[in-house]
Amino acid sequence: MTASTSTVSPWKAELRSADPPRAPDYRPRLAPLPEDPEVLVIGAGAAGIGAARTLVERGVRVAVLEARDRIGGRAFTVSVRGHALDLGAHWLHAGPINPLVALGRARGERLKLAPQESHVWVERRRGRPDEIRANARAFDRADQAMTRGAAQPGPDRPAESALPPGLGPWGARVAQVHGLVSGRSLDEVSLHDFPSLEYSENYFLAGGYGSYLARLANDLPVALASPVTRIDWSDRRVRVETADGTEYRARAVIVTVPVMVLRDGPSFSPPLPNAVRAAIDGFSTGLYEHAVLHWPSSPFRGRDRLAAIHGARRSPAGLLTRIDGTPFHYYELDVHEAEALDAAGSEADGVRRHVRAVLAEQFGRARLRDLTIPAVSAWRHDPWSRGSWAVVPPGHAPAREFLHAPLADTVWFAGEALSRLQWGTVGGAYEEGTRAAAAAAERIRIGTG
Ligand SMILES: Cc1cc2nc3c(=O)[nH]c(=O)nc-3n(C[C@H](O)[C@H](O)[C@H](O)COP(=O)(O)OP(=O)(O)OC[C@H]3O[C@@H](n4cnc5c(N)ncnc54)[C@H](O)[C@@H]3O)c2cc1C
Repeated sequence: MTASTSTVSPWKAELRSADPPRAPDYRPRLAPLPEDPEVLVIGAGAAGIGAARTLVERGVRVAVLEARDRIGGRAFTVSVRGHALDLGAHWLHAGPINPLVALGRARGERLKLAPQESHVWVERRRGRPDEIRANARAFDRADQAMTRGAAQPGPDRPAESALPPGLGPWGARVAQVHGLVSGRSLDEVSLHDFPSLEYSENYFLAGGYGSYLARLANDLPVALASPVTRIDWSDRRVRVETADGTEYRARAVIVTVPVMVLRDGPSFSPPLPNAVRAAIDGFSTGLYEHAVLHWPSSPFRGRDRLAAIHGARRSPAGLLTRIDGTPFHYYELDVHEAEALDAAGSEADGVRRHVRAVLAEQFGRARLRDLTIPAVSAWRHDPWSRGSWAVVPPGHAPAREFLHAPLADTVWFAGEALSRLQWGTVGGAYEEGTRAAAAAAERIRIGTG
């Protein structure tokens, strides 16, 4: 590697942040980079960590370059009043196929199966048994109809068009929740892509998902605060430059930078082929943000349970109550709330006022007397994520698979956007990292064998 003059990352400046940055709850011990890496991995989120672990296991010399001064990307656990809380990913989805569930079990991590049932809250009171059943039926009917719709031959269309009629008063809530977990409203989401995510058997992990991922990075060779600005793949040996002008060379590079960030940088030389550029740029930006509530007198008891809130008043699109049995809860902002707050120019305190106002409509002001909101995420304003996850709009479903093909046997892409069965998740990103790493390691072995 060589160092030259310092340059500032060109696409970094214009985004604003919300809360002041927080320190991670757990920082892994990182190894120094090898002198002569065979593979460079760009980004030390789930995909980058999955890739690096796979390469190390296979005896391949790897160097990971990470823009932030911490690892984990969109999986980030912080300590708030002595409790570990996730500002990004929190659920280990898709238990039967999520590699981080199997690995967690093997490592003796404290996994807890997430409860299936939600608290149901209707018009400022607890739901009656018939309402709880009707709520569950509406979700089942919608899921079946959308899965059927996606399996039908014919052109792709918005997922919303497959919602069954006659869901009555529950229909709005079904669309709101599916829009929340999709990252955009269903009229902007591909029906062909929609049902591919496997949601059964979700888990939580004591101490936070971000800290678990950080533990998996122990002893990996990662350079922090090293944003990559340029990838030159014109030659058999790829050249990668970071913002301070340091240049790295290797036989292959695995790019795990979120597709929302890749729209503007790093630059590729030669430029990416048109079809690859179109596949990357065709994803839309999913928005989903956490407001961390500390609310001892909330009406919800038990632990780690979603609250489904119905009625004519404004309601949180998502509310995960009593994290780990504590007075902490996550209020989940969906794309509509996030975009409306941004349009109004709201910073973190504006988000807090909005969250309070919505909760007051549902629970009454008196109930909020001990509510505080110690943290608010703003992944959409973070230059290294620029959103929560990538969303496939109608017609763009083949892009996930298309991006699996390497460029010139030198550049591989990986990350949550490329996962079909676990899109938008940590498990999917990790798996994509291991896939790309196995392929790159194989090419190197053939090339030198
Ligand atoms: C609020 C929120 C809640 C979520 N909830 C869940 C959940 O409950 N369960 C779940 O499974 N998933 C959830 N997700 C999604 C999940 O966090 C992501 O899908 C996953 O973490 C993505 O991993 P990744 O490796 O693809 O990308 P990232 O984690 O974004 O990692 C990419 C890395 O690349 C780095 N980088 C970017 N640009 C450069 C550059 N130029 N040079 C060097 N490095 C660079 C970034 O800093 C980052 O560390 C949530 C996301 C958010 C935002």
